[in-house]
Amino acid sequence: MTALSIVVPCFNEEACLPELHQRLGAAARIAVGEDYELVLVNDGSRDTSWDIMRRLADTDPHLVAVNLSRNHGHQLALTAGLDICCGDRILIIDADLQDPPELLAPMLGAMTDQQADVVYGVRRSRDGETAFKRATAHGFYRMLSRATEVDIPLDAGDFRLMSRRALNALLAMPEQARFIRGMVAWIGFRQVPFNYDRKERFAGETKYPLGKMVRFAFDALTGFSSAPLKLASHAGLALSAGSVVIVLYILYAWLSGQSIQGWASLMLVVVVLGAVQMFVLALMGEYIGRLYNEAKGRPLYIVQDIAGRPGGPARTRLGYVAEATANSDKPGGKGTRPIK
Ligand code: UDP
Ligand code: MG
Repeated sequence: MTALSIVVPCFNEEACLPELHQRLGAAARIAVGEDYELVLVNDGSRDTSWDIMRRLADTDPHLVAVNLSRNHGHQLALTAGLDICCGDRILIIDADLQDPPELLAPMLGAMTDQQADVVYGVRRSRDGETAFKRATAHGFYRMLSRATEVDIPLDAGDFRLMSRRALNALLAMPEQARFIRGMVAWIGFRQVPFNYDRKERFAGETKYPLGKMVRFAFDALTGFSSAPLKLASHAGLALSAGSVVIVLYILYAWLSGQSIQGWASLMLVVVVLGAVQMFVLALMGEYIGRLYNEAKGRPLYIVQDIAGRPGGPARTRLGYVAEATANSDKPGGKGTRPIK
């Protein structure tokens, strides 16, 4: 097994690739010596990115270049790289050098010192991004943290270092709509923040136009929260309750002879039908929400350590048992550590 894998999704990044390759290589050699691999995933680029990757792979034995059949999107390209890489520790980084590769060594240090399974980059500042992007990102992370049950760290992107067992747990989640930073938060283990200043893009322009950003935000929200569905059912229930009041008013108007002929019966039909429809819709929303959760097929829980079971971790049907690592007290799944 390789000590370190660096996984980079690339979409139309021809202008960044040579510099990226050189700086990542240098950072990796400082951090772990020669025992590393660099996995570049070409996400259906329409420029010469793939040619450059192939050429680099010819000269550099550390490089693994993966070519996807078409543009699958950032999160799936990243997933492909994570699935293929074989390192003991895994660094996820963007191709545009906004996240400095030189932070690799300090991040590895933080992982060892704090016995962490995940060291995630938190953006202290963002250079060279438009006020619009900064404002939407700021709003997005805060809205997400209010809506979701999982604690997704604020202002953290995908730039992070992970242990093999954390990555394996992530790869045990088979869902299609992947919001990786949220999924990593979901798996648990010990995760620590690492503050850094986000730089400007080295070259080229953002591959996240507004449309993709909205799609991404929607995946995050619907993948990690049933808040939108709950909103619909709450609105349905509130309207049903409101309709009871209206029905009472209609009856009162009818009995006291204030209404014209036919008004009361017509209103009753409209209000009652409306309320029943709302209620049924809310109910269906509830079931669809549950169906959606089931359809994701996630493991129900993730076990970090098992004590008192020699012969390694137990097999489970519904959960996922992480393999023991240096972070466990003893190898072989016997160690147990209080959850911090
Ligand atoms: N990316 C990708 N496929 C896409 C869009 C983006 O692989 O469809 C990659 C891109 O090459 C970069 C990373 O995802 O390495 C992040 O994209 P970008 O830097 O453009 O996003 P931003 O930093 O502007 O949010
Ligand atoms: Mg970028």
